[in-house]
Amino acid sequence: MTKIRSTDGSHIDDRRGQGNTGGGLGSLFPGGGSFPFPMKAGGGLLGIVVMLAALFLPKLLGAATGTSTAADTSGSANNPASCVTDLEQIVCGVTNDVQLYWADALPQFFNTPYQETNTVWFTGGTTTGCGQASSETGPFYCPADNLVYIDLEFMQQLEEQLIGSATDLAEQYILAHEYGHHVQNILGTNAQVQEIQQNDPDKANQYSVAMELQADCFAGAWVGARDVLENEAELQEAIAAAEGVGDDRIQQKTQGRVDPESWTHGSAEQRRTWFLKGYNTQDPTQCNTFDEITG
Ligand SMILES: [Zn+2]
Repeated sequence: MTKIRSTDGSHIDDRRGQGNTGGGLGSLFPGGGSFPFPMKAGGGLLGIVVMLAALFLPKLLGAATGTSTAADTSGSANNPASCVTDLEQIVCGVTNDVQLYWADALPQFFNTPYQETNTVWFTGGTTTGCGQASSETGPFYCPADNLVYIDLEFMQQLEEQLIGSATDLAEQYILAHEYGHHVQNILGTNAQVQEIQQNDPDKANQYSVAMELQADCFAGAWVGARDVLENEAELQEAIAAAEGVGDDRIQQKTQGRVDPESWTHGSAEQRRTWFLKGYNTQDPTQCNTFDEITG
């Protein structure tokens, strides 16, 4: 997949090597912060559980709420990147293209203007509008500062562990999913859901799952609407990525059992289904995941 790779890093805020180690990392992962895959026992497994709990889950980072109180997210990033390596060019490509897509799709489908933002690259840890983040949080979106955060190296290790390989489509799906959360923030969905969750804690997980599945569906809508895929096999790569981060798969890998009550992101089947709904309809208004909430 080379189509949407880009060397334009004007929407990347490159904070790598800024010396913020994020605390705690060393103590969790003996060996200086490199992620313990494949790991032997004990501490490694704890690391995975801690990390997976936060995977793609911005709320865990803290009490950040609110919408669009953007600091410096309009226009270009503070430290624009050079997109050189394959992975950098993939992430730069998605960052640019998915935002071009929403610049058209949000007015078209939701009658709402899109607000540009940036992807932050960091290593170890970084300070965010949602509190201190470290690499093992996984890629995430912070609604308080509207930024997508990603440790590139760590993301690849994560993919290899959860999805079986690090593919272009996996990277693209993950980034597009995080930008789906940005769209939810612009639409006010994030704030509405947080209010409902506070008023009705019993349904908090159902709403969390609906948020995540909608972000999957939004990612699918982008993949479907743009000329992202070169062949059918690449669609399978994207589906494998969506399935690989299903709560049931992750629980099976980390706990050896599956507990649907505790899901916050949805099962592999749900994630595949909603990704494909976006992909097939190319209509983000069809991403009505909240309609499925019951009881
Ligand atoms: Zn998410």
